[in-house]
Amino acid sequence: MRRPLVAGNWKMNKTAAQAVALVNELMPGLKGISDVERVVCPPFTSLPSVHDLLKNTEIGLGAQNMHFKASGAYTGEVSPEMVKEFCQYVILGHSERRQYFAETDATVNEKVKAALAMGLTPIVCVGETEKEYDAGETKAVVTRQILAGFAGIAAADAEKIVVAYEPIWAIGTGKAATAEGANAVLKDSIRPAMSQLWGEAAAQSIRILYGGSVSAANAAEYFKQPDIDGALVGGASLKPADFVTIVTAAKK
Ligand code: PEP
Repeated sequence: MRRPLVAGNWKMNKTAAQAVALVNELMPGLKGISDVERVVCPPFTSLPSVHDLLKNTEIGLGAQNMHFKASGAYTGEVSPEMVKEFCQYVILGHSERRQYFAETDATVNEKVKAALAMGLTPIVCVGETEKEYDAGETKAVVTRQILAGFAGIAAADAEKIVVAYEPIWAIGTGKAATAEGANAVLKDSIRPAMSQLWGEAAAQSIRILYGGSVSAANAAEYFKQPDIDGALVGGASLKPADFVTIVTAAKK
């Protein structure tokens, strides 16, 4: 049984004081939901204060990125150990990182290995551009991202990975993929690629989230799909009532 997981990617939003206020608003609503792993991923600057707030709650904390090196002359970067000091999760390979910060499948691979070695749960994003979607290249793109992004990772470690399928054309656009369409990509492309790497049992045990304009209104449709195990939520995760509705809808 794959346990549902809903993670909120706050992106570059909220000061530390605003983050504390948002988490304070979220906590009562997220308290009673026992069967869904729920995670907030604020900017780095808010991690210490949000970490203190979430102590002794069942709400997990994630970073939105990290470097793969342990330490050194990498100005502006944050190491796996620094993330681990506050977080249990880390989002890796988000399309905005790939698009604006030159992340590649090779750097994602290094980061996934570093996260696993540090005992963090990586939430690894894959997904095609609109052009690739229109050209019918979705399967080829996500297969390449999975095979290259997870190269050299053992099956035993793979089970700790969470994948988020985020078609780039659906992120922040209000143009969400259909639930059936998203499920088909998970079932026919992403799980088969994972099966190629680690075998069918592992491929079936790894959680795959959908992300891209998930809202309080459409979330339940995704969670009805057999292969969708939760959501990576951007915009709607900044609205406490909406995020609580989405987490509640993920309960099996
Ligand atoms: C995201 O940032 O991962 C995301 C899916 O954003 P949104 O929900 O706003 O489309």
